[in-house]
Amino acid sequence: MDKVCAIFGGSRGIGRAVAQLMARKGYRLAIIARNLEGAKAAAGDLGGDHLAFSCDVAKEHDVQNTFEEMEKHLGRVNFLVNAAGINRDSLLVRTKTEDMVSQLHTNLLGSMLTCKAAMRAMIQQQGGSIVNVGSIVGLKGNSGQSVYSASKGGLVGFSRALAKEVARKKIRVNVVAPGFVHTDMTKDLKEEHLKKKIPLGRFGETIEVAHAVVFLLESPYVTGHVLVVDGGLQLTL
Ligand code: NDP
Repeated sequence: MDKVCAIFGGSRGIGRAVAQLMARKGYRLAIIARNLEGAKAAAGDLGGDHLAFSCDVAKEHDVQNTFEEMEKHLGRVNFLVNAAGINRDSLLVRTKTEDMVSQLHTNLLGSMLTCKAAMRAMIQQQGGSIVNVGSIVGLKGNSGQSVYSASKGGLVGFSRALAKEVARKKIRVNVVAPGFVHTDMTKDLKEEHLKKKIPLGRFGETIEVAHAVVFLLESPYVTGHVLVVDGGLQLTL
């Protein structure tokens, strides 16, 4: 398999689990995160011919450079996963403007920049598949997460619009919207309390979200879709 998949946020959590599945399927991977050592460690653990890159998705120059480097060393990107994300949970009245900006820039602008950078190669090769990792709170909202919810809700609108824009070029754009998943991002949450609200009674594992991401990456007749992976949490919200 000579297909190339770029995974932003591939060094940890959900992105890393996607990398593990995609590596097993034989794709060539670019593992991308701000911390190069973390990305290298994740790429090294996969075995095989995968490369690591350092990039802050919120910085256009970084994103452009990364796509140039990926094309030089791996070839054109066929698959793109946007799993880079941050949260700065707090009530709106206590949220600093810089925390609003960093969440919007990383979670929303960052995905816009990587999708834009991926478009040139995908249009030239008349095909490509993108999965953006949203969140159930982007669909339902959550108290204490208004800005994060906005960033993830915006990602849905962006992805659906882009799906319409590029469908004729055989480029697909989909979203996976997880609920609570065991990663660094959720390690400080009160799990015992929160899991009572989840119909399946537990947090999800990264591999369970990764299967949904890979399904959408590889589904040739699915575009503009939002696949919720939340143990049934949305049924209660
Ligand atoms: P983690 O904190 O475990 O991993 C985040 C990843 O994103 C790391 O690889 C991190 O590497 C990278 N990253 C963060 N900021 C940037 C940036 N500015 N530029 C490039 N890479 C960056 O998070 P999760 O795996 O939990 O989350 C993955 C995605 O899933 C996020 O978009 C998150 O919002 C979403 N999500 C997570 C849920 C959960 O319960 N865990 C629920 C719903 C959605 P580095 O720090 O080195 O840059």
